[in-house]
Amino acid sequence: MHNVFDMRAAILRWYDDQGRTLPWRVRPEDRAAGVVPEPYAIWLSEVMSQQTTLAHATPYWTAYLSTFPTVIDLADADREVILSMWAGLGYYARARNLHKCAGVVRDEHGGVFPTDEKTLLTLPGIGPYTAATIAAICAEEATNIVDGNVERVISRIFAYDDPLPKGRKGLRELAGTLVRDDRPGDYGQALMDLGATICSPKSPTCLICPWQTWCVAHAAGESVKYPIKTKKKPTPVRYGYAYVLRCGDQILVERRPDKGLLGGMLGVPTSAWGEKPTDHSAAPMKRNWEKIGEVVHVFTHFELRLDVFGAEKDQIDDRMWMFDPSGLPTVFSKVVKSAHKKTGP
Ligand code: SF4
Repeated sequence: MHNVFDMRAAILRWYDDQGRTLPWRVRPEDRAAGVVPEPYAIWLSEVMSQQTTLAHATPYWTAYLSTFPTVIDLADADREVILSMWAGLGYYARARNLHKCAGVVRDEHGGVFPTDEKTLLTLPGIGPYTAATIAAICAEEATNIVDGNVERVISRIFAYDDPLPKGRKGLRELAGTLVRDDRPGDYGQALMDLGATICSPKSPTCLICPWQTWCVAHAAGESVKYPIKTKKKPTPVRYGYAYVLRCGDQILVERRPDKGLLGGMLGVPTSAWGEKPTDHSAAPMKRNWEKIGEVVHVFTHFELRLDVFGAEKDQIDDRMWMFDPSGLPTVFSKVVKSAHKKTGP
């Protein structure tokens, strides 16, 4: 039997005692002392930490906040600067939406970041999870925060049998049965922490879990069976060519078209990426290309296999050249790293 009152009390006690300290988080004791969470900082942290680890996202968060201390600073910034600072964080549509969203907050909300769920959902790039999180943390709105970690916890607590992703709606509804207006922000963060630290995918530490008493999957000795997922189809493979043209220490780069994968980001020239390997006779520039490497990079929906070709040029021209490849998206950093062998002219 799931006693909501007792469950919330237990997880909030655990959070007060053992919740994570994060640079953007206002801990309960600080909140009690009058510190107020900053919605702009919370928004940045949420957008940046999706699909990656906090350890990876945190330096980006720090860099963005020190370069753009307010949402108006971000809105006023050059989009290219925002995109290049995002390099390595993946899912580049998020960086483009970050800039768009900041512009809307500046132009339509007087530069004040909204904190109610309904308004947040109207902003570019803000979906149900991010809206619910900001509203709960910054406005104590009793929202239903459900990310991947929370899905795992809730599916185990209720031994929820409907396979995901189809069963996601039902799982959200179950999570909603635990929502109350008592400390919504801390409750949401507690639930996220529980999923991230204790109720891990492969080896949950149920013995120290504040919700062990109510966990149906644990009682049945089947914690890791949940969440049940529909079997994934094998990841499709795409093939293509990447061209590394060097001039001394410099590498030729180009800005990718706005639409499509890695839109608006810098990268080395490539062929189109197709479902079958082709020959590379349609190389974009007439050169003596020599194959110098291979790169495999996994995106969300496909695996990309690139043959890397290199050539050298003796003079820089008026195209875009770059010395430091660390500002490139990960797939292109890999390409440049693989191009270790000097090629003939
Ligand atoms: S008891 Fe175990 S499986 Fe259940 S919520 Fe806690 S950590 Fe997860």
